[in-house]
Amino acid sequence: MADPMTSAQWRTALRAEGVRFTELEGWTSRGRDKATGKRFGPVHGSLNHHTAGTNSLQLIAYQGQGAAVPPPLAHAYLPKTGALVLVALGRANHAGLAARNSFDAILAEKPIPKPNKATGTVDGNDCLYGIEAENKGDGKDVYTREQYDTLVRYNTAICRHHKWTEGSVAGHLETSVEGKPDPRGPVEGYGRRGRFMLTMAQLRADVRERLAHPASWSPPGPDDDEEQSPPPPPAPSGDGSAYVNLGLGRSYRLAPGSWDEVEFTQEWNDEAGHHPANGGAFVTGPARFTGSLALRLEGLPVGAVVQVRQVEYQGSTRKATHPITEVIGTAGATFGTVALVNRLGAGRTMRVALLNQSGQAIDVVSAVLKAQVWEEG
Ligand SMILES: [Zn+2]
Repeated sequence: MADPMTSAQWRTALRAEGVRFTELEGWTSRGRDKATGKRFGPVHGSLNHHTAGTNSLQLIAYQGQGAAVPPPLAHAYLPKTGALVLVALGRANHAGLAARNSFDAILAEKPIPKPNKATGTVDGNDCLYGIEAENKGDGKDVYTREQYDTLVRYNTAICRHHKWTEGSVAGHLETSVEGKPDPRGPVEGYGRRGRFMLTMAQLRADVRERLAHPASWSPPGPDDDEEQSPPPPPAPSGDGSAYVNLGLGRSYRLAPGSWDEVEFTQEWNDEAGHHPANGGAFVTGPARFTGSLALRLEGLPVGAVVQVRQVEYQGSTRKATHPITEVIGTAGATFGTVALVNRLGAGRTMRVALLNQSGQAIDVVSAVLKAQVWEEG
């Protein structure tokens, strides 16, 4: 038994998984529950579709397909940009009748057999989440890299929330008793993979891989080598080296769900004056540095995650974000130490940002930064 996700659970699950999404006005009250007298849920899987068209949001949310198939036609719409749109929270007309044999396999998270109407049917709209990915379905129209990445993240977010395996992810072509062919078509690429054909086996394999990582994980991309491994620490040298030791003036509250930069207002040491007066940046370029940030957090639930990353600025413009380190909540206060190593160009500054991924506000009781900085000419 699994209750459908609430709107808050959708937001939390999608954000944690790194899905870019917007919420269509009224989505939390959109659904066919009242009209059919059938409440959506319990849910048993995620069903994937292609739109067989372009710009289909209006159709999916407001128009439907004639009197026989009123809207909404999906819970989510995924255009080529990869920015998901939440369309409906309630029952949606996407699945039609699912063959009993394929449905049972999804329920058991086993390999899905060819749908066989003779085994009976199940109303898939009762119990399956539905996503419509924008694609003409002609076998030539290409799913963009961003779109497929979101598709993997979206399906994984659902599975992670419900503690399902990738076996709960299916395609309409695997359940339909009317011979629906979707989703299908070429994909521009994913991770280090170049162009490939979308198959449900591949999508499930990609969901399985994501599920094996923390929700914050991103697949290594073709151009991502630098982002994946920070540069090696600079060789120690007496010349131009300076020591920085900064902290918080007092503890502060960190709300969940958005990146927040640490203001270092306590300054124990700043030999070369690398710490600007505004308190945000801890190093100014051109420089190399190596050091650590020790955090003490209170109120972070056991197992919940706070992400830490360095953020690079040119003036007030954010220029780069660096790889994420996770601090995991433990019983009592949570202590985490994060390595800080980087090289910074002229005119650049570096800050540290935290993302509280738990569902509640926590306290950042202390944040002690120590770094050795080498100036570069
Ligand atoms: Zn479909």
